[in-house]
Amino acid sequence: MYCDQCEQSVKGGCRVQGVCGKNPETSDLQDQLLREVKILAYYIEKGGKSDEELDLFIVESLFSTVTNVNFEDARLREQINAATKHLARVKFTLSKPVANPPDSLTDNPDIHSLKQLLTFGLKGMAAYLDHAYLLGKKDQEVFIFIRRALAAMLEEKGVDELIALNLECGKFNIRAMELLNLGHIERFGRPEPTKVSTGAKKGPAILVSGHDLLDLEEILMQTADKGISVYTHGEMLPAHGYPGLK
Ligand code: SF4
Repeated sequence: MYCDQCEQSVKGGCRVQGVCGKNPETSDLQDQLLREVKILAYYIEKGGKSDEELDLFIVESLFSTVTNVNFEDARLREQINAATKHLARVKFTLSKPVANPPDSLTDNPDIHSLKQLLTFGLKGMAAYLDHAYLLGKKDQEVFIFIRRALAAMLEEKGVDELIALNLECGKFNIRAMELLNLGHIERFGRPEPTKVSTGAKKGPAILVSGHDLLDLEEILMQTADKGISVYTHGEMLPAHGYPGLK
């Protein structure tokens, strides 16, 4: 086992079953999916044709490799197979032959760290973008940046270039949060200061974490009048402030 897919790893990467519970098979599949998505972006940057389906696929793939989002090996294999098919489609649209992307491995710890930092930033942004997309909010400029940043990680880049890309990633991340915020406000109303009850009630319950307010809405509707308590956890705390979820 070797996993350095998130910032929560033990020093130098998780070498036994991960801090998050991820096993070696899942870790390898997520590494593979990430590599496939970078290659896909690389060929699009070299002139291959892209479309919204592809952009969404890239975003969903990145999101699925965020810690604790998807540890289902079967789903990850499906996603890898889909990436292979998408890649064949993109290569078919190239107007001239493009050499395979270079091996992105480096023994320079600064370059490696900056590429990892960029990867984590893109993954986090993908989580927001995917939720925003489901709420009908998108921005082509953000998709274009994601492709460019992913492709750059397969190319030889210096420290300065990678720092610039990381700063750009921060800028686009703010845009992604803005899209999600707009989507939330449109659907659930503008959040307002809200008193939140704490503690637990006897009986069946569901604990919801993460920040997918659409999922929370579904759970609330499906458990209405069924005597099931719904609790929030961590990032889900702000959900209490939205009028539409109260
Ligand atoms: S994703 Fe899990 S296994 Fe991988 S580095 Fe993070 S905590 Fe460790």
